[in-house]
Amino acid sequence: MATDLQIAARKVASTNPSTGETLREFECASEAEVQAAVARARAAQPKWSELGARRRVATLHEFQNLLHKKKSDIARLITREAGKPYVEALLTEVLVVLDAARFCIENAYSFLRDEPVPHRNLAMKTKAGRILREPYGVIGVISPWNYPFSIPAVETLAALVTGNAVVLKPSEFTSLVALELASLLQAAGVPKNVFQVLVGDGATGAAIINSEIDKLIFTGSVATGKRVAQIAAARLLPIVLELGGKDPMLVLDDADIETASSGAVWGAFANAGQACLSVERCYVHRSPYDRFIKACVTKTKRLRVGNGLDAESDVGPMIHERQLRIAESHVEDARARGARVLVGGSRLPGLGPNFYAPTVVADVTHEMRIMREETFGPVLPIMQFESDDEAIRLANDSEYGLAASVWTRDKARGEALARRITAGSVMVNDAVSCFGISEAPHGGVKSSGLGRTHGRLGLEEMVRIKYLDSDRLPGMKKVWWYGYGESFSRQMEGFLDLMFARGLGARMRGALRSAGIVTKGKL
Ligand code: NAD
Repeated sequence: MATDLQIAARKVASTNPSTGETLREFECASEAEVQAAVARARAAQPKWSELGARRRVATLHEFQNLLHKKKSDIARLITREAGKPYVEALLTEVLVVLDAARFCIENAYSFLRDEPVPHRNLAMKTKAGRILREPYGVIGVISPWNYPFSIPAVETLAALVTGNAVVLKPSEFTSLVALELASLLQAAGVPKNVFQVLVGDGATGAAIINSEIDKLIFTGSVATGKRVAQIAAARLLPIVLELGGKDPMLVLDDADIETASSGAVWGAFANAGQACLSVERCYVHRSPYDRFIKACVTKTKRLRVGNGLDAESDVGPMIHERQLRIAESHVEDARARGARVLVGGSRLPGLGPNFYAPTVVADVTHEMRIMREETFGPVLPIMQFESDDEAIRLANDSEYGLAASVWTRDKARGEALARRITAGSVMVNDAVSCFGISEAPHGGVKSSGLGRTHGRLGLEEMVRIKYLDSDRLPGMKKVWWYGYGESFSRQMEGFLDLMFARGLGARMRGALRSAGIVTKGKL
């Protein structure tokens, strides 16, 4: 790892991907600054936790109120820093966060209430237990640039409402949006040391993992996620990993092609394809294949590419040229191996260095990079299949397992196929949008990650579980304590028969043999 001096010398820049304008430069937080911030968070957290769920919920209410008032300013900032169309910033970022706040407000109190644990072990009948949900302490959040507001905010709100302090390391490309999140939370009443932003690059992120945080919620690429998991494993730091995807879309022979083609075009090109839940692989049954492709090409040609602040833009720029090169290389690899590039397939230098034309590629195969590696660009690769079984085999032939979609007029058939797909979530007749349902858990399987964010399962990731048990007869010596011997063994055999023998007679005999177990003297 880099030394403290090296980290301190590092700078990151926030740049408008549409125009290339540098919005602001930042020095990366050094290792010492990270440690100091985590220590401040640790000192501030107990008071925040002691405030209780009701007071924290009231703070989130105020946050929601302020965010709603500032929705246009925040959405414009997101568009300036990340490039996506303004309306997408409103829909997929601001709306998602407003609803996540609503979810926390409505659910935190009941979620944090002690949960009784009824049980049926006769031997333990004097025990009354319950589950307590306690904050971890300090939660580290490391987030990517593609949803620079909704990803860190949803995770942060869940951590805060359950009584944790948070240190957030946003992507080096979208620091301004994260700082805006901090000022909104502070204005709402979250103490400044309870939520802190540490701007910086990967080395700052690594310093957070090495600091005294109690849990890490990481969202980013599989490659970085694996490095993060290795460092975390050394000290058994609990982690959630929200990693990349290569989501399949299955268009069955009975699908509504007009709707499915619109869904594919939006699912592949929204946020210029830079969404973990993007449609990255499209499989279409042989019978509607040509019709589906024709509809996708027609609709793609109608898309207007441009600066996200222009209300007429459907697709914005990519975040930077390095990301564009990955998408371009996948398209070129597919073209060289015989795929047909039907629309797009080139840069749009007239608009700027980060713009790539929405691209539809037909007749792809699983030998091509475009069907195996995460493209994360405005590219829709389409492949034909013959049967439902083949479609499932193709969908599951991937190292990723984030999400998937099945398109059909037959809901039962769609749901039956959905059960056979290995993924964290599967939608029938839509794609991507379940990210906007605050109650729905978000997360992947296989290389797409570990654990969940969003919904009740997302709240569960923010708490330690403690089982608290109180005895109802504290003055009674327990039957399993010392006082072993021949007669106790026979009584125990009888007790096991009473509980588990087949047939009423055997149970009755067990009851008789175990009689006296309660009154028997103990050491
Ligand atoms: P990335 O892995 O390059 O970076 C993610 C974050 O990790 C950034 O903040 C970065 O600074 C930090 N980082 C880099 N090296 C680090 C290290 N060694 N230790 C700790 N932190 C480090 O990913 P990205 O390019 O910002 O984001 C795109 C990726 O994120 C895609 O693969 C996408 O699929 C994935 N993603 C997943 C989800 C999900 O919910 N599953 C959501 C959004 C994005």
